[in-house]
Amino acid sequence: MSIIEFRNVSKHFGSLKVLDEVDLAIDRGEVVVLIGPSGSGKSTLLRCINGLETITGGDLVVDELSVLAGNARLREIRQEAGMVFQQFNLFPQLTAVENVAFGPRHVRGVNRTQAREQALALLDKVGLKDQAEQYPDSLSGGQQQRVAIARALAVKPKVMLFDEPTSALDPELKQEVLNVMRTLAEEGMTMVVVTHEMSFARQVGSRLIFMEHGKIAVDGDPREMISSPTNPRLKDFLRHVH
Ligand code: ADP
Ligand code: MG
Repeated sequence: MSIIEFRNVSKHFGSLKVLDEVDLAIDRGEVVVLIGPSGSGKSTLLRCINGLETITGGDLVVDELSVLAGNARLREIRQEAGMVFQQFNLFPQLTAVENVAFGPRHVRGVNRTQAREQALALLDKVGLKDQAEQYPDSLSGGQQQRVAIARALAVKPKVMLFDEPTSALDPELKQEVLNVMRTLAEEGMTMVVVTHEMSFARQVGSRLIFMEHGKIAVDGDPREMISSPTNPRLKDFLRHVH
């Protein structure tokens, strides 16, 4: 039973077709890495999963909830999927622990003490126990992104979506974020990750998808696809990201 299922999904922005009849089923525990040229629809695909974009054709089911079912359920779907963006988007006026506790308190209705306790445990999990009382602007980019991951995890999502989570980071800070993501994968979290980090795709990905013009062009085993790509455009793409 898939946890995410795109059934012939299209997404238009006006006359621009950004997702073109996508069929995609993702099982629990899969780590799907999404690659493809800029503008191929990767971010849009992620944003449809957590309801940040509405689809314009087909159907999309997330944990047995159809995004077509209407607004009330869209809110539920949004809570099923935690999202981490390239820009960390933390609340600058809140400390790390307050950022992480915000969702549970205001979305899930968890009380202050309990939300704080859970937030501290999550910060510990991402290696930031000692930074709990710091404000985002006094943290490094890698630390901010790890707070963002903890914040996404705080509402107990069933799926985690990552949109180029390390693209804004200096090379030496990327690894600490990728390591947290690897741990999540090892714990069995279902993940969809847009990234150019091919070593992450090879080592952590259970599946690699190459998108082109809003379509899935290649869908397969990451190691195979990276070491011996047969699709010429995938081959060309990989030459440029290496
Ligand atoms: P990727 O993440 O693969 O770079 P995106 O999903 O961001 O691609 O975008 C796919 C296409 O959709 C691009 O041509 C982009 O300009 C267009 N697009 C994305 N969001 C919007 C929007 N809100 N309004 C109009 N066009 C958009
Ligand atoms: Mg994008």
